[in-house]
Amino acid sequence: MDLYGEEAFVCPNCSIHAQQVWHQVLFKRENFVDDLGYSKLHEYYKAEEGSGVFFQDGDYLRQTNTLAFCMCQSCKKPSLWYEHELVYPLKSIIEDPNPFMPTEVVALYDEARAVLNLSPRSSAALLRLALEILLPHLGAEKAKINTMIQQLVAERKVIGKLQQAMDGLRVIGNDAVHPGLIDSEGKDDREVSLTLFKVINFIVAETLESDQMIGELYSLLPERVRKGIEDRGNPPKNK
Ligand SMILES: [Zn+2]
Repeated sequence: MDLYGEEAFVCPNCSIHAQQVWHQVLFKRENFVDDLGYSKLHEYYKAEEGSGVFFQDGDYLRQTNTLAFCMCQSCKKPSLWYEHELVYPLKSIIEDPNPFMPTEVVALYDEARAVLNLSPRSSAALLRLALEILLPHLGAEKAKINTMIQQLVAERKVIGKLQQAMDGLRVIGNDAVHPGLIDSEGKDDREVSLTLFKVINFIVAETLESDQMIGELYSLLPERVRKGIEDRGNPPKNK
């Protein structure tokens, strides 16, 4: 999802796929001769319009583009870009928390979202804490995060991909505070943290959200059918 310099994309303000007009803020430095014949240096910033400013002699000017803004032709609102990354509006690049996420977990999710650009590592550590607060909502007895995951795995409440998601978030979030465990070479911290937002939403979707959906489905079944399912596999009782 590298949108920098693209002429059309899904607008982070209005969520419509729309034409985008880019403006690059350039630092200019020019020598000039004043009225008295002295040579002077004139330094200033100038915004240049059009995606053409991203190219020079066919080369993409990635390295020199520090600050840019982009006007959406649909909603006429700007997005701001710093060093090729979208910095405003920030909310749009991170998905909203799953509606089934408990309130106290949402508070940490939002805090992690607010600090992502300033400190991706703080963001990862906050998401790990969010998982720690979430686990008792999934039926774990309050304990260390690793113990709580183990408990849910032992009770078969957490298996497969869900377990991997929890352990991944746990270990990466921990490494954000005590670096050295993860070989994240070639991946920047921000990219890793962005993934963690998706991971915690996945965990909530696979647990609290699907529990409710399946619970509702099950409650539609007549009493005697439910009883039959519950007794299935049990030896028939002696009369
Ligand atoms: Zn827009």
